Amino acid sequence: MSNINLLREPVEEKINDLLSQMTKEEKIGQTNQLHAFGEPEKEAVRQGQVGSILNATSAFAGIGASPSASAEICNAIQRVAFAESRLKIPLLFGRDVIHGYRTVFPIPLGQAASWNPELVELAAAVAASEASADGIKWTFAPMVDIARDPRWGRVAEGSGEDPYLASTMSAAAVRGFQGTDMSAAHKIVACAKHYVGYGGAEGGRDYESAEISMRTLRDIYLPSFRAAVDAGVGTLMAAFHDINGVPMSAHRQLLTDVLRLEWGFKGFVVSDWASIEELVNHGVARHRADAAALALFAGVDMDMVSGTYIENLGSMLEQGHLSPEILDEAVRRILRIKFLAGLFEHPYTDPRRAATAMLTKENRHAACLLAQQSIVLLKNEVSILPLENHFRRIAILGPHAHSRGELFGTWSPDGRPEETISIAEAVKEAAPQGVELIFAESSDEAIRRIKEVDLAVLVLGEHPIRSGENSNVSDLSLPPGQRQFLEALVAQGIPVVLIVLAGRPLAIPEEIRLSKAVLYAWHPGTEGGRALADILFGYANPSGKLPVTMPRATGQVPIYYNHKNSGRPIGWQDFAFRYVDLPHGPLLPFGYGLSYTTFQYNNLAVSAIASSGPYDISAEVTNTGTRSGSEVVQLYLRDLVASVTRPVKELKGFQRVALKPGETKRVTFTLKPSDLTFTGMNDLPLLEPGEFHFWVGPNSTEGLQGRFELEF
Ligand code: BGC
Repeated sequence: MSNINLLREPVEEKINDLLSQMTKEEKIGQTNQLHAFGEPEKEAVRQGQVGSILNATSAFAGIGASPSASAEICNAIQRVAFAESRLKIPLLFGRDVIHGYRTVFPIPLGQAASWNPELVELAAAVAASEASADGIKWTFAPMVDIARDPRWGRVAEGSGEDPYLASTMSAAAVRGFQGTDMSAAHKIVACAKHYVGYGGAEGGRDYESAEISMRTLRDIYLPSFRAAVDAGVGTLMAAFHDINGVPMSAHRQLLTDVLRLEWGFKGFVVSDWASIEELVNHGVARHRADAAALALFAGVDMDMVSGTYIENLGSMLEQGHLSPEILDEAVRRILRIKFLAGLFEHPYTDPRRAATAMLTKENRHAACLLAQQSIVLLKNEVSILPLENHFRRIAILGPHAHSRGELFGTWSPDGRPEETISIAEAVKEAAPQGVELIFAESSDEAIRRIKEVDLAVLVLGEHPIRSGENSNVSDLSLPPGQRQFLEALVAQGIPVVLIVLAGRPLAIPEEIRLSKAVLYAWHPGTEGGRALADILFGYANPSGKLPVTMPRATGQVPIYYNHKNSGRPIGWQDFAFRYVDLPHGPLLPFGYGLSYTTFQYNNLAVSAIASSGPYDISAEVTNTGTRSGSEVVQLYLRDLVASVTRPVKELKGFQRVALKPGETKRVTFTLKPSDLTFTGMNDLPLLEPGEFHFWVGPNSTEGLQGRFELEF
């Protein structure tokens, strides 16, 4: 059952004891998070007016500071709370440790493309061990928002469009950050964000309103949060936007009824950056005092940096706008996490740890493996890849061929460009003997010299600041000029292998058509250059699969695989849905990705189906090529007739299988009745009898198809 690990008797007793000693002001202090620290803030900490500090170490994350500087600054601040304040309640130091810390891992969307929860868990564990060595005990990750519209820049930060894949990655990241005991020195408290429906922002515009039915919330947007809660996540962050007319920072139904009463979440909820005072802008609060009362009543326990709680909760309580029990409950939740994080026993960080914890050989290795598995091979005409030594003179070109920090991606404030190598440098390291590499300083020089080469590796794509928070685009094409560069090279008759760096699925049909091979690399992190070089030369075999649908054009979005059938589906005789100016369907489907070998699916089987479950579905997968490789075997389901419309396909399972040439393995998926359950009329979970179709295959549009009947 969820959350069992957040409620422990001895801890609850300690919380009650502490609460009974706290003044109203000290209680309000626990709900207050600061993001700056100077003399006035020091006094506030001493007076018990601060519960948490965000980015306490920012000033020291830069180059030049001694390795222990961050931990020491946190310890010095902590000493004020722990040694000089009346009740000695330690502070919780928070920071955005989103896809790595000093060792930068691929952006979360890339991590999801690995379809490898074990590696995603490892990445979070590495990030936790590095960040905690710098005094950080709380990260604002994982970001588990479902994104169906890649114009939204924050698609980069999550696991894509599918609730099952996102839930798997959500739980994996929580396990990685927190482990089984978040009080361990190398573990940190996780925060599932941004609760909820934030990715449904209209037009892909960050912070915009979302209109999402309760059914879609429950079936699509809520499961990845539920998965985090079930994995024992310590905290959640309420999102900025308003949903169905209610801003999330004031959404009592979702923050209290669903999260606390229905799911039993016992950790605390933090607002997003100043989102409580923004309730005034939303027009649901007249002033900051109103906003404070609304948010606390709704279930937002901690105010991230706006100062709204510390300034107003006291008077709102005095005037009877809030009951003291609501404040007590918020403080109880915050203290619970501080106790479980071990802060009362170990408030300080060993400043010696940072010297050896960062960017270790093992950490780099984990980052390289995850980068390799996150890269998706979209095309490989005439098996041009791997290059091995078929080509003697290779040009490495494009605006990102020599990029370093740009490989990191959107949330990497602690990665250092000088600690990574560019794709060009990595290719130099990895190229087999006898291969001559040619670089060009400018596109003009590249085009002039292109005749000298047998093949060009062209690195195009987005700069990381083109994705992430508030970095939305209205056009999903490559940045201006890049396609023209590719066209100019192709016009010279030179085969091009295209590498795309991006924080989102881009609409690049022409670029894919013009290139002989395409590797979609997201922003691959510290080891991204090496991972790409290994794949180019065949030391690693690509195995990533798209965690998002790739559109043909911007005008097609939102486009996602688990859509409804509609009354006039494709193929219907009359007036079936279409764009008059575009073929129907995506450019490439969800789950798609090639390998240097080939896989064949055979002998689908399904166990007898009883209403009580479980149901076993299996298929044999054979490596029919000549190289070892890994296939992500996917299970999709369709509920043919139900009392409400159901998606044409839903991912219900996946497994990564390593196969040697000629090897066959049977892959079995076990489904439970809850896997067939959906949100019915009245917004309640429902399992209905009837016919189900299923597919076991390499992506959301191919595979062996079977059926079963559920009777009861
Ligand atoms: C973002 C959050 C982030 C927070 C703290 C906000 O602007 O929406 O994702 O965790 O800032 O940096």
